[in-house]
Amino acid sequence: MENSKKKLIIVFSIIAVFVVALVGALVAFSFGGEQNIAIKANDGEEIGTASWNGFSTAVTATDEKYTEYVMVAVNHAIEIFVNENDLSEAQAEKHLFKNVTEIKTNLDKATFDEIAQGYEKQKLESGTNCYIATTDLHGKLTAVFSNGAEALGSMSKTYAGSTIKPISVYAPAIESGEFNWSSTFVDSPVTKIREDNGEMSDWPVNSNGQYTEKEMLLTDALANSTNTVAVKLLQALGVQNAIDVLENDYGINVDYEKTKIEGTDETEVLGNIALGYLYNGVSAIDMAGYYQPFANGGTYCKPTAVDELLKNGKSVYKSQYEEKRVFSLETSVIMNEMLQLVVKYGTGEEARIKGVDVGGKTGTTSGNADNWFAGFTPDFTCAVYHSFSSEGNQCPEIFKNAFENSELKNKEYPESNKIVREFYCEKSGLLRGNNCVFSSRGYYTVGQQLARCDKCQ
Ligand SMILES: [Zn+2]
Repeated sequence: MENSKKKLIIVFSIIAVFVVALVGALVAFSFGGEQNIAIKANDGEEIGTASWNGFSTAVTATDEKYTEYVMVAVNHAIEIFVNENDLSEAQAEKHLFKNVTEIKTNLDKATFDEIAQGYEKQKLESGTNCYIATTDLHGKLTAVFSNGAEALGSMSKTYAGSTIKPISVYAPAIESGEFNWSSTFVDSPVTKIREDNGEMSDWPVNSNGQYTEKEMLLTDALANSTNTVAVKLLQALGVQNAIDVLENDYGINVDYEKTKIEGTDETEVLGNIALGYLYNGVSAIDMAGYYQPFANGGTYCKPTAVDELLKNGKSVYKSQYEEKRVFSLETSVIMNEMLQLVVKYGTGEEARIKGVDVGGKTGTTSGNADNWFAGFTPDFTCAVYHSFSSEGNQCPEIFKNAFENSELKNKEYPESNKIVREFYCEKSGLLRGNNCVFSSRGYYTVGQQLARCDKCQ
């Protein structure tokens, strides 16, 4: 009897200690222990919460499918305070939870559903990571998709492959005024490199493993993603010029490439810049942003998930979406038309959508490790990425699956009255002369001095 009473008292004491501890924790939690931020879509509906427990941030989404976007939004909000208040990331994180109770984002739920459906329809083989990002044409990150293989995969950097060519080589070349729609380079190796087995081989290799050894038009080289011509164009443009564009216009990290060419041969970084092997890589969100100028007339705005930050209903920060002109309206029009040809008859054919003037560019890296399609319409840009798949690059199909039924608000791209369509000789790339047999029409800037073909007899 004595013993069981004692036992009972001990049990009650233990329960009492537990209850006190629990109440204490709850009080600490609700009075300043934990801070929450509500995260909302562009229609005002709540899509998630970010919580701070004094040590770290935890994120929950109202629907699992929005988890990636919610995480990106919190990251972008922290980035804002890093830049605005010159804080470290850890300081900015604390600052965010102290000063913000709501993040109004740019998430467009209808766009998210489109890209998620684009992925679902394609049925990539299991184990393949897929990340998709969409922007409007003025800096709003409207959706991100991740198949969940990696948290924040849409922000993780990887090799861009040929998807970088229009940004790093073609647009700067057209902008320079020294090259045009029908400029030509011979499709042949640039140099020889030593393979791992010690043997020398031609470089760069084209994706079909062959060289035509003939003059090739820039438009055809872009459409077919011919590596030799991209590298030769970069050499003619100047590596330093391309590096300046990447760094100053787009804020791309090219520190490695800059160090590499100091006091040494530029050939070391030709592949990094012309073929998309930038050492520090780019993300799907970055890539969607880089394609805005091809569809909006030539301006770039770094895409952001954050539209506004509020504290108890009062605005504490509003995104300004400052656009930077990266090339002229005329270059934008010419590049836009060139990139439409990639989809009309080049490597991006699978992205074709009836009734929509889709433009874009594919990219793959050695051994199909990285696969890309970055595309645009008059309304938006979209970058699709997937990791290795034995079935090859399916990013153009994912793009088409996503948007083949979408209703566009805008149907036309910006135009310029300083652009003319002219017939050029397919053999020489010069303006069509009296004796030229095969000719096509290209887009040129008014006033550009173009020679007339006298090579055809
Ligand atoms: Zn001719």
